[in-house]
Amino acid sequence: MGEVLSKESDYLKSKYQRRNKIKAVLEKIEPNNPKKAKRIRKHNLGRKKLNRRKKRHQAKVETIVFTAVHRIVDKAETIVCEDLTKNFRSRNYSKDANRRLSGWVKGLMASAIEVVASRRGSRVVLINAAYTSQMCSKCGCLGKRSGDTFHCTKGCGAVMQADQNAAVNILARLDDKELHRWLPFTRVKQVLLERCRRSDEAAHPEFQLQLSL
Ligand SMILES: [Zn+2]
Repeated sequence: MGEVLSKESDYLKSKYQRRNKIKAVLEKIEPNNPKKAKRIRKHNLGRKKLNRRKKRHQAKVETIVFTAVHRIVDKAETIVCEDLTKNFRSRNYSKDANRRLSGWVKGLMASAIEVVASRRGSRVVLINAAYTSQMCSKCGCLGKRSGDTFHCTKGCGAVMQADQNAAVNILARLDDKELHRWLPFTRVKQVLLERCRRSDEAAHPEFQLQLSL
C-alpha cells in the first residue's frame, strides 16, 4: 500500500504545481483576453479527470485495506491495535509512512478493522500505542528507529525490523494493566524508564550490591 499511496501523492504534487502555474498565467491574460481565459479554465483546469482519478485511487486503496484486514481476521481471534481515529500525529510509523498515511487512510483502516472483525466474529482491542515503536521488545528500554530498523541503544543492544518490534510491543500492551489505554504519553515514558532501570539492576546485581555497601 505504501507504494500506491506515495505514487499518488507524488503525482498530485506535480499535477497541482502545473495547475498553479497555469492559474498564474490565467490571471495575467484574463483582463485582456477573457475568451481565451475561459477556454483555458475549461480545458486545462477542469476537475472531471481529477475527480475520476481520485475515485479510482480510493477504490484501489479500499481493496488493499480490506484484503489485508480479511487476511488478519483469517488468523486472529483478537486483534490488538492502536486507536487510529485519535487526532494527534502518531509517532508509531516511519517519517515516510507518516507523510503517506492521511487522515482518510487511517479512518479507512480503523473502520475496515471494525467492520470486518465484527462481521466475522473477531475481537478488536485498542491499546495505548505510546512509545511502542521506540522501545525494545526484548528488554523494554528505549531505543531509536531509523528507517526500517530499530536499534536498542539504552538496553540490550538488539537490532530488529522496526515494524515487527513495534507489533510485539503493541501485543504486549494487551496484558499491561499499568500502561492502560488512557495513560498520558508522558506517564508512559516515566513508567518505561523506570522499568528499564529496574531490569538493568536485575541484570547486574553485583553492581547494586557494591552501591549499597
Ligand atoms: Zn533491548
